[in-house]
Amino acid sequence: MALEDLYREVILDHYRSPRNRDPLPEPDASAEGVNPLCGDEVTVQVRFEGDRLEAISVRGQGCSISQSSASMMSEAIKGKTLAEVNKLMTRFRAMMDIEKTDGGAGLDPDRPGAVLGDLEALQGVRKYPVRIKCANLPWTTLSEALHHKPTS
Ligand code: ZN
Repeated sequence: MALEDLYREVILDHYRSPRNRDPLPEPDASAEGVNPLCGDEVTVQVRFEGDRLEAISVRGQGCSISQSSASMMSEAIKGKTLAEVNKLMTRFRAMMDIEKTDGGAGLDPDRPGAVLGDLEALQGVRKYPVRIKCANLPWTTLSEALHHKPTS
């Protein structure tokens, strides 16, 4: 199977069966994001136990890229510490940054604590710059939610 087909399968799988969609009853922080260019909407809720993101909910509507990115993100960051979450965020943004000539450098598998897993399937989206906003939407929304997180 060609890598591109594999990526498409991963994206469709998350789109059809999105992970971590159940709303959190008592979130520590939440945020809503929209991408008006495409009509995508994402709601992110997070709950922390100390420094660890012990629960997350992402749900919304929109294109397969935005919704699968949200699902993949939730799987990648659940159970991680805030520092690890930030590391993944940086790494994901590096992967999606078409301006960077070393776009692949963010994917160094030897770098500890920042394995993107399924999220790497989204790197094909870089070929369609208009969809990059779709892929980034859940992360931008997460970043906003974390900004509102009360310091403990
Ligand atoms: Zn979209």
